[in-house]
Amino acid sequence: MENIVVLGGCGTVGSLMARILAKKGIVTVSDIRKETPLRKIFEAEGIKLDLGGHNPEIIKGADKIAVAPSLLENENILQLIKGKKIITVEDIIASCKVKKPVVGVTGTNGKTTTTNILKNILRVAGYKVPEHHLNIQGNTELIPALQARLEGDIAVVEIGTFGRPGEIKKTAKDSKVKIAIITNISRDHLPPEDFPTYIKCKREIIDVAQHIILNADDPIVASFANNLPKDRVTFYGIESLKHPFEVFPEDRECPYCGKPLKYKRRFLGHLGDYYCTCGYKRPQPEVKATQVEKDKFRLNIVDGTIKLKIGGLFNVYNSLAAAAASLTLGIDPKYIIKGISSFKGASGRHEIIKEKPRIIIDYAHNPAGVRAIMQLVKEETLGKIIVVNTISSESGIEGDKEIARILSNADIVIPASYNARKASAHTKSRIIHINSSRQKIKRGTLGASHQQVKEAIQKALEYADEDDTILIIGEGGYKYAKTILKGS
Ligand SMILES: [Zn+2]
Repeated sequence: MENIVVLGGCGTVGSLMARILAKKGIVTVSDIRKETPLRKIFEAEGIKLDLGGHNPEIIKGADKIAVAPSLLENENILQLIKGKKIITVEDIIASCKVKKPVVGVTGTNGKTTTTNILKNILRVAGYKVPEHHLNIQGNTELIPALQARLEGDIAVVEIGTFGRPGEIKKTAKDSKVKIAIITNISRDHLPPEDFPTYIKCKREIIDVAQHIILNADDPIVASFANNLPKDRVTFYGIESLKHPFEVFPEDRECPYCGKPLKYKRRFLGHLGDYYCTCGYKRPQPEVKATQVEKDKFRLNIVDGTIKLKIGGLFNVYNSLAAAAASLTLGIDPKYIIKGISSFKGASGRHEIIKEKPRIIIDYAHNPAGVRAIMQLVKEETLGKIIVVNTISSESGIEGDKEIARILSNADIVIPASYNARKASAHTKSRIIHINSSRQKIKRGTLGASHQQVKEAIQKALEYADEDDTILIIGEGGYKYAKTILKGS
């Protein structure tokens, strides 16, 4: 077997390169980092480690050197490996065939949870499902394509986007997506002229996948089935609720004629049973939930009621999407029930980390996500709702304002980020400011610092009674709140 050294193998892309190459040769991960959270994974997969710098002897002994893309322009690295045969990430994607079925999950919200429910169903059914084990979102650029090439029987990859045309198509192609799920599409705060481009981007996955699973209750997602043969599409949707829910509505125009859509029933934001005077209406779903409650529903493709460990109508939708994909993959319905009902929730998605007062972390970072989590928290809270808002919207202040308006459904709002503070005049409920939110923090999609999140949580705890819920939303809360609460 060949000796392959992977330089930068502790990074996101590098670690996946190493794990794929480990099937073809003896792999050593070489990295200037002194330690890696992936140590156990590497060891279990027979990968050796050369940490804290690159050992020249190990480099000399290598037949081939794989280089993480971030190091390809590093002069010192290029000097170190001069004369060696180099493997790039593109080489791996081109030469390593994907033989397993791949399910690609895209949409504005619900991608991570849908992906994880589907993986749980497949695991319960006895399949090996590849995991990237990265402590990040891991749904953009090359990560899904690499994840699809890891060892396993069926891959489920989450496909996100930075909003560039062509991006989802390339990722889906590189990942060899066979079955695509589109969960929902929210306009959020996008300026009206940008929305058609966003829709087009999400639709790209349809050009790649053989079979498409669409949310019938989302008027734009459902319209993607237009001109497609019927047997290429499976629709899912909610058919009936056991009790009425309070819905924070979001309006939509008809994707065909542009007139405002009418709704016979609404379930969540813009999702529901809609129709238009031009004749467009919600298609009949094949996979549907009836008698839906907060954490229970009946699924037409199986017998009996499914009880969820995770609440919320959005999780009923996520379960339906996963069920529809499982059905397409030919999974026995008994595993579908088991996989859905045993799913414990994804980290940072309606994650309850403390009781009395209840403290919930939710990764919601756009208006549709905030609307969904607020609808659920409203449903399950007896006392006050106190929101710690750590979001800094990816689409700028218009997104922050929209989020601030939705937070009028809370009793108290504590803006933790600079942008949340700036937009807070649009919230109709009581606002309590913290000092540190005057400082502007923005690193990638992260909008609030450890200090800001900490001060906001302390403030929230001062105002909270036993029956209240403190809801911490956004990436800052997701990243820092757990350690902050452990320390207090
Ligand atoms: Zn119409």
